[in-house]
Amino acid sequence: RAREAGGSLYRFFSPEMNRWAQDRVMLASALGDALADGRLRLVYQPQVRSRSGALYGVEALARWHDPEWGDIPPTRFIPMAEEAGLIEALGEWALRQACRQMAIWMAHGVGIPVVSVNLSARHFSDPGLPGLIGSILEESGIPPGRLMVEITESTMITDSETTIAAARAIRALGVGLSMDDFGTGFSSLANLVSLPLSEVKIDRAFVVGLERAGDTYSIVNAVLRIGQSLGVTVVAEGVETQRQLDLLDGLDCPVVQGFLMSRPLDAGKVPSWLEEWHRSRPVPEALPRR
Ligand code: C2E
Ligand code: MG
Ligand code: MG
Ligand code: MG
Repeated sequence: RAREAGGSLYRFFSPEMNRWAQDRVMLASALGDALADGRLRLVYQPQVRSRSGALYGVEALARWHDPEWGDIPPTRFIPMAEEAGLIEALGEWALRQACRQMAIWMAHGVGIPVVSVNLSARHFSDPGLPGLIGSILEESGIPPGRLMVEITESTMITDSETTIAAARAIRALGVGLSMDDFGTGFSSLANLVSLPLSEVKIDRAFVVGLERAGDTYSIVNAVLRIGQSLGVTVVAEGVETQRQLDLLDGLDCPVVQGFLMSRPLDAGKVPSWLEEWHRSRPVPEALPRR
């Protein structure tokens, strides 16, 4: 049919499909350039203890502004980096950048207990990852306990030997390990126990669901109780309303993160946010501030 219509297979693809494929290739190559030229940046979203209001940590999130294409969201460029084979380089960049930033905060006496970096599950199966993390820590001079790595549950092969070995090696360095977007994948409770996790993050979808009637409340409650009994810190993501915060607090959710507390911030804005946060909120058991 394509041949009849125009004599070439080209006709088989609509112009839209063609442009889309071309855009993807161009965008992926622009991403590679941005990464190489240091034009990606990290923003940091505060995570706070729901009872005391004390800062628990910050999550580093990648941002990409391209002069030609504008702001490209991570939900678009992360999958692209995976496809283009750039995800390991991006992960390494994020680890190095976040650790450097932590060293700067520490040198200036800004009390940020820990920085979390998102890593792709693909990077997690790279046997060189624990060694890389170790050398980045050394290079930056920050204590390993100041770093946490997050892996998304839905992409994590929780029962694979490689995953478990990498998780153990990372924890052995003294670095924290977090399961991100919990509830969006299919990992069983047995798998949850087999990984040496320090943290589990309840996906925003469940936090949103809390305000509606249904089973979500019970699910969130169950995750919180499991976290408690395993000694794993549970962080609720995407908290946007006071009602959500109250419900989570009522369920004894220890840590919350979301636009209600703060949007992700430029590194330079974190100290003033923190100052303002403490000013407007009494912190009974504040972390040691220097
Ligand atoms: P994530 O790790 O689950 O990060 C949380 C996402 O929720 C962030 O989106 C954050 O800006 C957003 N968020 C936080 N609070 C709220 C809220 O109250 N309401 C709403 N609607 N959203 C909220 P972001 O920055 O667009 O990142 C999206 C995803 O892209 C991340 O989800 C993570 O999976 C991935 N990502 C971001 N940066 C990196 C990176 O450096 N490396 C890797 N591998 N993935 C990254
Ligand atoms: Mg995350
Ligand atoms: Mg998440
Ligand atoms: Mg999420």
